[in-house]
Amino acid sequence: MSSGSSGGSSGGVEVLDLTAPLSSATPVLPLPDHMAPIPRFELEELARYDHRGETSFQNGIHTGEHVGTHLDAPCHWITGAEHGDVSQIPPSRLVAPAVVIDRTAEVAADPDYLLDVSDLQEWEREHGPLPAGWLLYRTGWSAHSGDQASFLNADDEGPHTPGVTPECAQWLSEETPIIGLGVETVGTDAGQAFRFDPEFPVHSHLLGAGKYGLTQLQQLDRLPTAGSVLIVAPLPIVGGSGSPARVLALVPSREKGVL
Ligand code: MN
Repeated sequence: MSSGSSGGSSGGVEVLDLTAPLSSATPVLPLPDHMAPIPRFELEELARYDHRGETSFQNGIHTGEHVGTHLDAPCHWITGAEHGDVSQIPPSRLVAPAVVIDRTAEVAADPDYLLDVSDLQEWEREHGPLPAGWLLYRTGWSAHSGDQASFLNADDEGPHTPGVTPECAQWLSEETPIIGLGVETVGTDAGQAFRFDPEFPVHSHLLGAGKYGLTQLQQLDRLPTAGSVLIVAPLPIVGGSGSPARVLALVPSREKGVL
């Protein structure tokens, strides 16, 4: 990645960009046959300093809402239909503390690794209660994000990417104050979650509880376990079920150690 997106520092705070570049090459989650496919991101050139506009350059964009680094609004799932669309998310919920649970080693050994309640209870014993903020699930999977086949890691049985057990999805939704789950993978649910009960349990439980999903994050390895603040900026699409989002992290700089 370019150094420009890896951030800079100002006044004791480092700004990290956790967003994947958005292009027609951005991997898209393949859905089961009974669900409508997600449109890829595409640019349509409308003018480029030519007869269509001699001094201007502009594109149209065509994209699914659930493409690249994006936010799932509660109404993305039927369980959260009453909780509103992406334009209705209060701004105060888009800036929130973030904590990180690291399962990079486990996922390297098993791409179908699932986070369970006991993992988070162990995390809480070491670091304190989960905050009213983002839980970021670090898996190392963003290393695959430049290559669709490797990122989706699918075979005859479907995609094999890490996720969360149904029990853990329910526990995070009902027993913790987190406002959302952020992941490095193409969706918040495991690759095999179409087989789970309920199907896609993170979507079903978290969005049903009025919480949010955040996908395809990068640079989680540069965040502290606790102490950073996330700025999540989806487009306020009226009636939208989600939106590509710019996700920035404010991290206390090593030199000064304060936000
Ligand atoms: Mn989504």
